[in-house]
Amino acid sequence: MNTKPLLDPYGRAISYLRVSVTDRCDFRCVYCMAENMTFLPKSELLSLEEIELLCRRFMAFGTRKIRLTGGEPLVRRNIIALIQNLGAEVEKGNLDEITITTNGSQLANMAEALYGAGVRRVNVSLDTLNADKFRTITRRGDLAQVLNGIRTAQKVGLAVKINAVALKNFNEDELGDMLAWCGDAALDMTIIEVMPMGELDGVYRHDQYLPLSELRTRLSQRFTLQEIDYRTGGPARYVRIAETGRKLGFITPMTHNFCESCNRVRVTCTGMLYMCLGQDDHANLRDALRGGGAEALDAAICDAIARKPKGHDFIIDRTHDKPATARHMSVTGG
Ligand code: SAM
Ligand code: SF4
Repeated sequence: MNTKPLLDPYGRAISYLRVSVTDRCDFRCVYCMAENMTFLPKSELLSLEEIELLCRRFMAFGTRKIRLTGGEPLVRRNIIALIQNLGAEVEKGNLDEITITTNGSQLANMAEALYGAGVRRVNVSLDTLNADKFRTITRRGDLAQVLNGIRTAQKVGLAVKINAVALKNFNEDELGDMLAWCGDAALDMTIIEVMPMGELDGVYRHDQYLPLSELRTRLSQRFTLQEIDYRTGGPARYVRIAETGRKLGFITPMTHNFCESCNRVRVTCTGMLYMCLGQDDHANLRDALRGGGAEALDAAICDAIARKPKGHDFIIDRTHDKPATARHMSVTGG
């Protein structure tokens, strides 16, 4: 296997691929989806076989880590089969890691199968520990089911990290308690600034946006935040919480630009390759793959990486309440 990493114009090696395996989801989180989302016709989605081929071509170009996301990856039928095939590549040393980001609703049933398929870490999105607020923010989720899923995942041996989106007037006063809960439950945590992606009927981004610099100051009045230089090449900056020993990450696309060390690209469930989460330029890998097979796919991938932009242009303020990108996070995958 060719393991020479694909370099972008700024010399960044692309070693991390995030793939959205579906745009569908059993939740409708208010910052992510509209209440009445129209999902894509199935024919537009990549088949699991096409996703696997695509992952394998990226691996041939030096991708070492793959994260499956969505929509909700665990509602895609037969997803375990794909994960097993990619997990086998981890076993052979062709990939360092296969991970997923999930809302946790299916974890109680699927954690064991995930572990068996080679997954060792999962990110679970959870914005509140209050069952009523959880139902409000997800518009339909059941907190007890997700907590059960997290416990089951830990029991079968999966390391779990909690991802929480910081939302003004919603969970800003609760994030300290959630951090303490993560400490007790042996969970790392990442707090994410809300990003302006996709139109949301009647929801204004400025009303949701909470700068994490403010939150960090607040958290440091209750916890000792120790700087550590743990990096994943991604947007998160980590500290260790001295009181619990767990890691806390901050993803701050709005207040800090994280692009200089970016090692990742994203493929949507329709096979569009986005070189940057915050930019619209993309390459149609589905057409390349369906029209010309692996060779055309390779050419399209190389051509696209050669156009990876230096960084994103996210802005949220009163005069910029339009999304920076028209697509929802559930299409690109968070
Ligand atoms: N359904 C899975 C889940 O919720 O973990 C995977 C897909 S979801 C789109 C991935 C992550 O993106 C979640 O942690 C979610 O909270 C986050 N997300 C969605 N929309 C966002 C937005 N507008 N700004 C910031 N994060 C967002
Ligand atoms: Fe679904 Fe995840 Fe989006 Fe919530 S954040 S609606 S769980 S895709």
